Amino acid sequence: MVISDLFVQQDTILKKAIEIIDSQGLGICLLVEDNHKFLRTITDGDIRRLLMRGHKLEENLSALEPSSSIWSPQDTPPAILLDLLRKNDIQQIPLLNKKGVPVDIILRKHLEDPVLLSYPHLGTFETQYVQQAFETNWVAPLGPNVEAFEEEIAAYVGSQAALAVSSGTAAIHLALEVLDIAAGDIVFCSDLTFVASVNPILYQGAIPVLIDSEPGTWNMSPAALQKAFEKYHSQNKLPKAVIVVSLYGQSADLSPIKEICDFYQVPIIEDAAESLGASYHGQKSGVIGLLGIYSFNGNKIITTSGGGMLVSNNKELIKKAQYLSTQAKDPADYYLHTRKGYNYRMSNVLAGVGRGQLKVLDERVQSRRKIFQTYQEKLHNIDCLQWMPEPKGYYSTRWLSCCVIDPQKTSLPLEVIYRQITQKGIEVRRIWKPMHAQPLFADIDYFPHSNAESVSDYLFENGLCLPSSSNMTEKQQNRVIEIISTILG
Ligand SMILES: *Cc1c(COP(=O)(O)O)cnc(C)c1O
Repeated sequence: MVISDLFVQQDTILKKAIEIIDSQGLGICLLVEDNHKFLRTITDGDIRRLLMRGHKLEENLSALEPSSSIWSPQDTPPAILLDLLRKNDIQQIPLLNKKGVPVDIILRKHLEDPVLLSYPHLGTFETQYVQQAFETNWVAPLGPNVEAFEEEIAAYVGSQAALAVSSGTAAIHLALEVLDIAAGDIVFCSDLTFVASVNPILYQGAIPVLIDSEPGTWNMSPAALQKAFEKYHSQNKLPKAVIVVSLYGQSADLSPIKEICDFYQVPIIEDAAESLGASYHGQKSGVIGLLGIYSFNGNKIITTSGGGMLVSNNKELIKKAQYLSTQAKDPADYYLHTRKGYNYRMSNVLAGVGRGQLKVLDERVQSRRKIFQTYQEKLHNIDCLQWMPEPKGYYSTRWLSCCVIDPQKTSLPLEVIYRQITQKGIEVRRIWKPMHAQPLFADIDYFPHSNAESVSDYLFENGLCLPSSSNMTEKQQNRVIEIISTILG
């Protein structure tokens, strides 16, 4: 629909106004001046009342009594629009530009029934495991579900040992702790990520150095990593670890990254919070470095409502992490402590949820991949859309369907595209704002992919994540596709 299809003027006859109201199916038309400035909304009820008072179908709209209608400026955020719709008990609201001309119309039904980015999606076994925990009174932290969940995750990803903890962030923090990373140490970390990858470096008083992405995977650029190593090696300040993030369900290019890290003998911590279930040349995401972490936060591909896992083939490191995660209690009949510890363990109840979720992980991956494929197929004619690549040898979970809107091929700024989609009740997210551009990391050293190109900045400035829930219905996805086609087509 083009908004101007709804326009009528004072000299439009009632018959024509009814036709317009009926043909657009919104129950309204918009009365505008010659220069298209908005005057009021006209409903089918308004016309009916005129006819009942004896006005004829051939008469024009000047018979309408003046009335002021609700409207909102074009850049109104969706939450405020919904508030206006509800307070005034109306079903739609026109948006006006600075000149007072209607540019869009927002439907209440869209905002009241939004399509969200990523919903939790429960299977059938979660309640069974949780029930067991209640029946056996294992409601305390730890217990049989925790141990079983650790074993099941370790078996699934192909790792020797696993430790279930209260969050993915806690798992990263423990990884730094077991590697004895302390104040003043340097840690390299992916630049394009969620802040949770980097915050634990700050917890230790250590110094992050940020490494850009590369265009092929959107993950850590081996070229930028090489440059960072050369500089810090020459200053005799090698990092104590490299945190490599695998974003949006896709592994980083770990072979060359590992080669560089091995050369300098620096361990890798894989932040696979977003990529459980993905693989890289046959190996599961998260098990290629010395330590790996997963997150079971509410919006991740599987969830325990909140939780994380630390994995490693080095059982000693996991044992040490376990000790630190339970307040670092030393063996004794009483409470004996020689080192600083944390309370980071996962509860037995939540581990029950995790065990049920793990059973359906592969199904969830397939659903998300199918959602991605549907977007790709149905939006293939939108020239400015480019999808997150999946290079040969990679298997992405497509946790989120991510795309870039090529600024060379559309005149619409990303803020406008984002706003127009969200105003229709579609939850999209911008790509992570790079860490080097965060006020928190203003003074931190950053290595772009090349002197000419900062890939993370480009992805942030032009990228979007589309709704990708494994339980999204076909109808919901079609709604997203239609709106994107209208805005970008
Ligand atoms: C979600 C996430 C984390 C943190 O996981 P929590 O369980 O929320 O603490 C870490 N890194 C990345 C990249 C994430 O997306």
